[in-house]
Amino acid sequence: MSTLLTHIAISDGKIKRSSLEVLSHMRQLAEANRHTAEAVIIDAEASNYVDEVKKYGPSTIYTVEDPIFENHMNTPLLKALTKVMDEAEPYIFGFGSTESTKDILGALAANQDAAVLSDVSEFELTDEGIEAKRPVMAAKILSDNVAEGDRILVSVRSGSYDLDEGDADADVVDIDFSIDDSEIQATLREIIGASGDKIDLAEAETIVAAGRGAKDEEGQDLINELASVLNAGIGASRALTEAGIMDPSLQIGQTGKVVSPQLYIAVGISGAIQHVAGMTNSKVIVAINKDPDAPIFDIADYGIVGDLYKVLPPFIEELKKIKG
Ligand SMILES: Cc1cc2nc3c(=O)[nH]c(=O)nc-3n(C[C@H](O)[C@H](O)[C@H](O)COP(=O)(O)OP(=O)(O)OC[C@H]3O[C@@H](n4cnc5c(N)ncnc54)[C@H](O)[C@@H]3O)c2cc1C
Repeated sequence: MSTLLTHIAISDGKIKRSSLEVLSHMRQLAEANRHTAEAVIIDAEASNYVDEVKKYGPSTIYTVEDPIFENHMNTPLLKALTKVMDEAEPYIFGFGSTESTKDILGALAANQDAAVLSDVSEFELTDEGIEAKRPVMAAKILSDNVAEGDRILVSVRSGSYDLDEGDADADVVDIDFSIDDSEIQATLREIIGASGDKIDLAEAETIVAAGRGAKDEEGQDLINELASVLNAGIGASRALTEAGIMDPSLQIGQTGKVVSPQLYIAVGISGAIQHVAGMTNSKVIVAINKDPDAPIFDIADYGIVGDLYKVLPPFIEELKKIKG
């Protein structure tokens, strides 16, 4: 029996959904293969999140609590993760694929002499380790990857697994942690948050994305209204970010963000391969476009062929009625 450990990432006082997705999958793997699923929370207020994590059924939750974890810094996080790995001795250590995970995974793998597979969209256990799929070439191809060994790190794209709750009776183990200022050679001067839309696109359940078809003020107003009714994050194609109409942080695609919401509504977006690379993992895709041959319809679950200025107002009104 081995330990499948999941790192629970905290951002802006909230647990990242992607971490809970990984934990859900790890617990299912543990149940199917007679392993143990455990979780670790490393944060300035780690204990605040224990009850929420318990719901997803790990048998043990490790907490590492220290004010140094208020902001992401590699050195203390690496030290804490190393300590947790020494304590929990995981066979597989799973992470949500976030910016900070990307920052730290290579260092942790080197430090622990572990195999690592990053940014995968699914993985399963094999007799020797894990087998994973990773989207490559602008998500046109899924590559098969294998990692073998007795310590394997894996990071998983958000939206890859559904949340699944389990028995909520985990033991909680606090791990002592301290770090001396002299150990931290980097200085964190400033964190510049994303401007514009406040909903984190990587975590958003619903995204309304605007393309060149919605570039004028009226189009933007309709996008904002639709997003507000659905409590959705707002994204954009590069046509709008390049034109300075929308903030670059909202760009979705190969050179923007990779998102995987439950619902993605593409408005006035043609569906160029570079855009699709960032949203093809969405659970349900709705496309609104006046061109019936637009490539976005090839990947859409539901399509509305029509002028967005005529389609959106009644669509928004109906949604308001349903919501209200
Ligand atoms: C190296 C590289 C990287 C790139 N990275 C990205 C990236 O990360 N993200 C990204 O998005 N793009 C990226 N691009 C750009 C990409 O190739 C496309 O040019 C871009 O996605 C097009 O944006 P769009 O769909 O909004 O515009 P268009 O392709 O111009 O499409 C606009 C669509 O709106 C429809 N439309 C117009 N008016 C209306 C209306 N009134 N009602 C309904 N529909 C209407 C049209 O039928 C059309 O399909 C990249 C390109 C390169 C070369």
